[in-house]
Amino acid sequence: MTKGSGRHCLGCSSLLPDPFLDLGSTPLANAYLHPERERTPEESFPLAVAYCTKCHLVQLADRVPPDRMFSKYLYFSSYSDSFLHHAYRMANEMTQRFGLGGTSRVLEIASNDGYLLQYFLQRGVRVMGVEPAGNIAAEAARKGIPTLTSFFGPEVVPEIEARFGTADLIIGNNVLAHVPAINDFLSAAVACLKPDGAVVFEFPHIKELLDKTEFDTIYHEHVFYYSLSAVEVIARRSGLELFDVEPQPIHGGSLRIFLQHSGRRPVAARVEATLKRERDEGLTTADHFVSFGLQVEALKRRLVQMLQQLKSGGNRLAAYGAPAKGNTLLNYCGIGPELLEFTVDRSPHKQGMLLPGSRLPILPPEELLRRMPDYAVILPWNIAGEIVEQQWEYLRAGGRFIVPIPEPRIVEHSG
Ligand SMILES: [Zn+2]
Repeated sequence: MTKGSGRHCLGCSSLLPDPFLDLGSTPLANAYLHPERERTPEESFPLAVAYCTKCHLVQLADRVPPDRMFSKYLYFSSYSDSFLHHAYRMANEMTQRFGLGGTSRVLEIASNDGYLLQYFLQRGVRVMGVEPAGNIAAEAARKGIPTLTSFFGPEVVPEIEARFGTADLIIGNNVLAHVPAINDFLSAAVACLKPDGAVVFEFPHIKELLDKTEFDTIYHEHVFYYSLSAVEVIARRSGLELFDVEPQPIHGGSLRIFLQHSGRRPVAARVEATLKRERDEGLTTADHFVSFGLQVEALKRRLVQMLQQLKSGGNRLAAYGAPAKGNTLLNYCGIGPELLEFTVDRSPHKQGMLLPGSRLPILPPEELLRRMPDYAVILPWNIAGEIVEQQWEYLRAGGRFIVPIPEPRIVEHSG
């Protein structure tokens, strides 16, 4: 392997080593295709991940221009019960911990449709959201949540100061992974924070991705994959001190981190304990990532071999679900219509479309039972249990599911 890819770390600007995992060149994971466009070629972009040995930041080696990515943002947080429940609890905990009341101000970055800020608003706290997707920001405004339709960064700081002032609490859930200009982003957060304020971010912990071989959560929209060690370095560069960390069960395993202007509160012992654990587990070691890359390649071989053997044994195969991560899985493994006949999905927005890259048609879930493939690969494997329960009729009729990750396994009707 040659050292040095000619690319520079987005965190610390040092030269990045070669990617430890190369998933090939694929279309954007959310670029679902209208059947009319079946014959037109899709635009694809390289998808490879590198580890910076200087600052521990795991990042995409190549980036897609942002204007290609956010044009068709469809996700409304309030459509998910578990998300809303998590938001409600978070608002409670933050209000108590920081003693927020009628004179407090909470600013949320990537505030979506106001799924979180609504709970602060109910407590009489002054709130403001920043959200780039216009249709989603409009939904928040309908709920009475003042929302700036914009990406967050230094360019919006003057407007936030003028309209809102500085914040006692700044929250950013699942946004750190999406921002290539991460240093500017954090400097802007510092500028919007009161002297005694706190910044709270939540993000999926890279440990989960590595431990469970969740390589399919890598796609172009996610520029960074964070350990606490990496986030601590980036925050410190912007003048923010990490003063606490809490694990959160959402998204398979996330971290909630607490930042402040240096020296304002004592630093909790679990910060150093978590950093030490990460060092012990290899999250700050290049070799650890190289062996993860090899593990992903081995998983790909086993999955493709399993499907090919079933197919050549006369079985009919399909898929279940059309999540973005399924597209990383199928396209990296080179699994398409020659192995799988179709997929099904509950979202009416996706039914009738084709998966990007693999071009599998997306049908309504009833088609699974009607067409009765012998096996169906569950693409949203993180909710495999829920799907198996919903589709018990398919199983009882002799259908079988394949859960691809962390290790390909077959689920069939028992008894
Ligand atoms: Zn770096």
